[in-house]
Amino acid sequence: MTKNGTSGPKARARARQKRDGNKYTVALRSGSSPGESSSSASLQSEADRSPRAFRLGDLLTECTTFPATPIEDYDDHLTFGFQSKVLGCVIPFETVLSLAGALAREGLGAELAVEAVTSRSVVVTPVDAWPERLEMSLFGGWTTPLCPIPHCSGRSIQFGSIDRCHAHLVSCDVPTLVRMAKDWGQAHRDRLDADPARLGGSRQSEILVKAAVLQGASQEVTQVLLLTLFEDEDLIEEYIWDEAEAMAMRHAIDRERLRLRGIALEEARRIRKTANGCLACGKALVFISDTPAYPPPFCSSSCASSQ
Ligand SMILES: [Zn+2]
Ligand SMILES: [Zn+2]
Repeated sequence: MTKNGTSGPKARARARQKRDGNKYTVALRSGSSPGESSSSASLQSEADRSPRAFRLGDLLTECTTFPATPIEDYDDHLTFGFQSKVLGCVIPFETVLSLAGALAREGLGAELAVEAVTSRSVVVTPVDAWPERLEMSLFGGWTTPLCPIPHCSGRSIQFGSIDRCHAHLVSCDVPTLVRMAKDWGQAHRDRLDADPARLGGSRQSEILVKAAVLQGASQEVTQVLLLTLFEDEDLIEEYIWDEAEAMAMRHAIDRERLRLRGIALEEARRIRKTANGCLACGKALVFISDTPAYPPPFCSSSCASSQ
């Protein structure tokens, strides 16, 4: 099989794109389904136009029983998948298996709805209150968690703990940031066997503290991170009997506290530099030597709470 010329996979892919260019670029909430022509769309009943809901088990049954069909991506890579009735499009076997992996804890009965179908992927969401959104590739054989804010195409920063994208993390309220710090800190500690030498210095704790600065809560989030990642400093002697190990734990906590404090201060100063005076009273914002316990674009906590 040649990859070039008018009959090669690339040419066929281009022809297919030209022919069906818009067929997947359809959000199901707008009322039409992928793969249908405009004439057949008018024949669809109202019931068919509602977002598809399905159980994970139904999709896996299709995956294991439906005939294989080749799928070419835009770079001529070939993979195999099947024409899914529940999703309404051709999907690679690997993509469905990766979705099953992501939902392993939920089981085959997990109910999902198709939120949108694009030319490259399908976004599925839980029917119940489960707060995840997952993007399934139509070519690449992967499923990846998306930010849970409806219709956001940003990816989760960390699946299972810091689930927002970078843009939506900064608009989280303090309780949400605290919850994320606890969830991430606990998972990170478990992953690294609570080894104090490796628990500090992570990019995720930096991202969380920076997001907290804007809410005036960097000290609170830093404290939650330190408590979750390491031991409670007041109780170190009770938990760690070996003097050298206790000292290593104290050093690790101090080092991480210093690092996060520096990051928070730098972020608070950066925010103040970009603000043209206090957002409430307009007074010039002074240079700070510590992160304020209120949002840095304000000159005082009373100005911040007046907004
Ligand atoms: Zn987002
Ligand atoms: Zn002010």
